[in-house]
Amino acid sequence: MIRRSDPLGPYLDDLAATYGPEFLHTDPLGEVRRFAAPADREVAGFLAAGVAFGRVDLILAHLREVWERIDGAPAAAARRPAAWRKRRLRGWNHRWIRDDDLAEVLGALGRVQRRHGSLGEAFLLDHAETAPDIGPALSAFVGRARSEVRVGGRRVDEPDLPYGVRTFFADPARGGACKRLNLFLRWMVRPDDGLDLGLWPGVRPAQLVIPVDTHVARLAHHLDLTRRATADWRMAAGITDRLRAYDPVDPVRYDFALARLGILDACPRKVDPAKCAACSLVPVCTLGRKERAVA
Ligand code: SF4
Repeated sequence: MIRRSDPLGPYLDDLAATYGPEFLHTDPLGEVRRFAAPADREVAGFLAAGVAFGRVDLILAHLREVWERIDGAPAAAARRPAAWRKRRLRGWNHRWIRDDDLAEVLGALGRVQRRHGSLGEAFLLDHAETAPDIGPALSAFVGRARSEVRVGGRRVDEPDLPYGVRTFFADPARGGACKRLNLFLRWMVRPDDGLDLGLWPGVRPAQLVIPVDTHVARLAHHLDLTRRATADWRMAAGITDRLRAYDPVDPVRYDFALARLGILDACPRKVDPAKCAACSLVPVCTLGRKERAVA
């Protein structure tokens, strides 16, 4: 077992230095960085994080298709008439998210930006600078943005929203990990380091919660950053707490690099002794050390 005193921090720092902006082409964030204007980055970021599940090559291809269909102008597309969005997105889909779902979410983002100036301003309405994390503000933001969805021109109650629309609006108050919304917030809030965008300076990076997907959950177990079995909000908050020991100001800065290990199959689901032998985390990885001892 790794003791808390073991020097995980330097290994995480090395990992973060290894997987920097040159790996953006392996992440939906690279698709958001195509845009320069903050309003476009907010809208593109929300959509890109929202579809960030499944095979990464498909995610990237499907996002590029969206940008093409909306003339490479996400914020302007969000403000156009609903019929235009439906027509332009007809036939697009990503897993269970259908063309109309995406068109309706895009329209909701346009309404939020029009009403509040930006998605960031809408988020700040419920954000407390002194809050330990962004959970409550995210919950309020999700409710606010979701209430702007119109289906067939009408507001509908949340349970009646199509599943593909609800997929974008996970509420942390329900206990889920909210991986894709935490990813969106990481992109918006962390300073521009060539990866994240630094668009929302009113939120402190220290308040972010790490986006936990199956890759990050698996690695967090290997690195003894969590012992929870379920990848939920409590696991995400717990891992973030542990990471604060290594960077109290910016604990989720390790997320991009940790996620690369899974996305690039450097640390596969099924343990691979050859990959462990080549992995820089072996000295601080419970599984890697076991593999090395057996070899
Ligand atoms: S040592 Fe092996 S199990 Fe541990 S993180 Fe590296 S590849 Fe994954």
